[in-house]
Amino acid sequence: MEKPDTLFAIEIVGIGNSVSDTILISNGRLLSAVDNYHDAPLDIVVSDGVIKEIGTDLKSSSLPEIDAAGGIVSPALIDLHTHIYWGATSLGVNAEHVASRSGTGTFVDAGSAGAGNFLGFREFIAKNSDLRCFAFLNVSFAGIFGFGKSLMVGEGEIGRLLHEESCQQVAEQNRDLIIGIKVRAGKKAAGENGALAIEIGRRIAEKLDLPLMCHVDAHPPSIQQGLDYLQEGDLLTHCSKPGPNTVVDSHKNAIPELLKAIDRGVLLDIGHGMGGFDFEVCKIMLDLGIKPDTISSDIHAQSVDGPAFDQLTTLNKLIALGMPVVDGFTACTAKPAEIIGHSELGSLAIGTPADLAIFKWQSSPKTFVDAKGQTLDTKRHLICDRLMVAGNTIGKDGKAEHG
Ligand SMILES: [Zn+2]
Repeated sequence: MEKPDTLFAIEIVGIGNSVSDTILISNGRLLSAVDNYHDAPLDIVVSDGVIKEIGTDLKSSSLPEIDAAGGIVSPALIDLHTHIYWGATSLGVNAEHVASRSGTGTFVDAGSAGAGNFLGFREFIAKNSDLRCFAFLNVSFAGIFGFGKSLMVGEGEIGRLLHEESCQQVAEQNRDLIIGIKVRAGKKAAGENGALAIEIGRRIAEKLDLPLMCHVDAHPPSIQQGLDYLQEGDLLTHCSKPGPNTVVDSHKNAIPELLKAIDRGVLLDIGHGMGGFDFEVCKIMLDLGIKPDTISSDIHAQSVDGPAFDQLTTLNKLIALGMPVVDGFTACTAKPAEIIGHSELGSLAIGTPADLAIFKWQSSPKTFVDAKGQTLDTKRHLICDRLMVAGNTIGKDGKAEHG
């Protein structure tokens, strides 16, 4: 876990001064496995944007109070696979529109920007947001540029765009925001160049000691081939995508390459999106004891109004499929925080930034839908009651409510 003296060295673009007010969050049940809180009935005092105190009966008449009765208090969710470079890339969505409803305080863009247009992500997205924004940099110089409802041009299809030197240089120059390299392989995203794109991405990741997030859609390459490239700390996103070219076979077994990859320390990310999540595949994996390491939404222009919606909806789906609630939260908080190199954002430890959210169970029937249109009925689901980033409540407009 991060030591408090390193926490204050963190400067994140876009997060302004936090409120100096002190506030009490009372009557909540703390859920943060990394801090050993499993449904712990404790109060939290937030001051100057950080968690100052945790304990019982911290009420004081002088402190403004947020009553979290009946709610789960968790670190704010961290969505490891999103597309939030809105206005500049055709698949971008505005993170501010989904933050408060989903309890997501940190958005990691997964390769919308490449070396050629990353500066805009910094200047127009990350810098202006009251939310925390990071990015995986696309191996393709242009980023994801041809993604529409009736048009799909893969950013890896043109081999000349897979420019190793530019990607490495821009990632190196923007270490504060770029936390990994993204490659989209497969027929749709890279034509025949998928394996080459992964090779290049892996080399850059190796040189910079960053994780590679890899997407594999239709053959080529095969999912087996794609997995074989990945090393410890790399991520296979869309890990429960529908077949063909998926990680389970027709006998409901995991393919050997998946098991070997897991043994090497390759991580599995959900990345729901428009076509990346299949209830049936996910259920087979969970039944085999293979849990996703991170639960991300892959929200973009074609998935934010369904089937993905947001990270909380994706978490609700995993819980409905049988993933234990505590594991689901870890896969939305502590684990992605560790991957982006900011463990403090996925923790409720004293001294860490007060990025937290209050969730409540709704005991009403709801039907979820996956990328294939399959349905899943549930009796209860979580909704977000409040999101805080650096001690500021985030309003429905995605902006910090100061004062
Ligand atoms: Zn994506």
